[in-house]
Amino acid sequence: MYKKLLLDEGVEYAAALPILSVDLTREYLLTRIEGFSPRAVILFLVPYYAGETENLSRYAASEDYHLYMRGLIDRMTTKLYNLYPEHQFHGFADHSPIDERAAAVRAGLGVLGRNGLLLNPTYGSYVFLGEIFTDLTAESLGFKEEAPLRACEDCGACRRACPTGILRGEGDDCLSAITQKKGSLDGREIALMRKTNTVWGCDLCQTACPYNRNARTTPIAFFHENRTPHLTLELLDAMDDASFSRRAYAWRGRETVRRNLLLLSDT
Ligand code: SF4
Ligand code: SF4
Repeated sequence: MYKKLLLDEGVEYAAALPILSVDLTREYLLTRIEGFSPRAVILFLVPYYAGETENLSRYAASEDYHLYMRGLIDRMTTKLYNLYPEHQFHGFADHSPIDERAAAVRAGLGVLGRNGLLLNPTYGSYVFLGEIFTDLTAESLGFKEEAPLRACEDCGACRRACPTGILRGEGDDCLSAITQKKGSLDGREIALMRKTNTVWGCDLCQTACPYNRNARTTPIAFFHENRTPHLTLELLDAMDDASFSRRAYAWRGRETVRRNLLLLSDT
């Protein structure tokens, strides 16, 4: 039943696992829910690829995915409580009690990429992971057996494409993290951003990956609406505080994004 509910939302990849099959990396997030003894977790993949971008990560072109994930989890848990009033349902995304990627592989939703991302056969790595924990059993949710923990073919394309070298073990920083730093950046960091024409995030280890070559675009309307695939100073300045707060980069503040845009325009 949960699969049909998720499919109605445009989410086609979902599977349940017993709680004993997942690595509880932040168990306190579950134990602090009073009176809840989770027995299973429903894992699902939310595809977000809605077309190319020019100077920012694909995930950041639409409005903040956290807004979508929160809404989806609220709608799903409401429907599940209506169907199973004797049971509990608690949703998470991003800040999760478990190792989400390993669990998604064990649930048969993809393989682990050497770039550290989950690779799905239809949507590549352009997916967000979400979970709903429940005290229903995994078997009652259709679970039969766990998939083996599989990795990609290790073609090496992501390592070759990585501009900082972190994927080759040559550096200790990721360009995505550099673009999110507050304060001032050093010459090397600025040169990396200019060379890759990046004002927010980095997708190079994803665009190089063969799993993303034919990644299907998302059927979910949220990711196609209000897109800014090319962020400019004019667009940023035209956003009032309410619109800015709905963007994926808002959490670092307007000044960080403005600094990045100025660094790229100053070449
Ligand atoms: S680029 Fe190759 S090595 Fe890297 S994650 Fe994709 S398939 Fe794996
Ligand atoms: S996001 Fe960019 S810098 Fe970070 S690991 Fe991937 S390719 Fe390297």
